[in-house]
Amino acid sequence: VAAIDREAVLLTRTASRTRAGEGPLEVIGDLVNDVAAARRRVGDDRLVGIGLSAPGPVDPSAGVVLQAPNLRGWDNVPLADELRRRTGLPVWLGNDANLAALGEARFGAGRGSRNLIYLTISTGVGGGVIADGRLLLGSRGLAAEVGHMAISMDGPRCGCGNRGCLEAYASGTGLVNRAREAIAEGRASSLAVEDGPLTPAGIAETAEHGDPLAQELLSAAGCALGVGIRSLLHLFNPSVIVIGGGVSQVGPRLWDPMLEVVRGDAMSAYREGLRIIPSELGDDSGLVGAAVLAFDAVDGSP
Ligand SMILES: [Zn+2]
Repeated sequence: VAAIDREAVLLTRTASRTRAGEGPLEVIGDLVNDVAAARRRVGDDRLVGIGLSAPGPVDPSAGVVLQAPNLRGWDNVPLADELRRRTGLPVWLGNDANLAALGEARFGAGRGSRNLIYLTISTGVGGGVIADGRLLLGSRGLAAEVGHMAISMDGPRCGCGNRGCLEAYASGTGLVNRAREAIAEGRASSLAVEDGPLTPAGIAETAEHGDPLAQELLSAAGCALGVGIRSLLHLFNPSVIVIGGGVSQVGPRLWDPMLEVVRGDAMSAYREGLRIIPSELGDDSGLVGAAVLAFDAVDGSP
């Protein structure tokens, strides 16, 4: 929870662990307490309302969290109404990756861009699309799930149930699953003998030590990202693609194959003036985007 001004300066900020196993009432109660603490610090006279970023599919116009994948009991929770009732402030809700796109487009790596795509590569792959200056929402606010773009017709199974999604190749979960499969098929790799659970960071480190399987996995993830970005270029013709999330910090072993696929394959007109760059706001991109959402609602979006 942060109090943020119109120039995206964080005036106060608190972080507390989400009590994911407790259910919506407890989590909303914690939110209300943190909001009250922020209000005491900045004073009510400057507050215009609450911008709220939530994971998973949300219905932004109804202010409802449809599902929250890692939180227990979050099905069709009217989060905006509940928070409005308990704080007396207007509340605007958005999907976290969508709002991160808004934050990066207005105050982050894509400042000033009217056509931007944000990709976050972490446990899953999420994203947001700013098209002609506006956040693309779709008919129910579910647009821009870039992680579930099909990269192949018969690829690995994704958490969503389909096959060949970008997320199945390039997310942290996908990387670990692909590593497990290769090891089960008998591939020799120090990933097979290392202590502890397989993690994206462990795969990145093992690749640095020269392990061919770990290097192949990162390269395949980078290529899948490149193929996904190629589709996004042709669909939306962005001038900036911003990439964030923990797995994106693996560095050149992921970025180089990705950039190579984009440079090698995409029709050249789509690459003119195109920048593919890391996130500038990092963990704060969603927080800043939530503030932009609220200010745009109050001021009228540009
Ligand atoms: Zn999927």
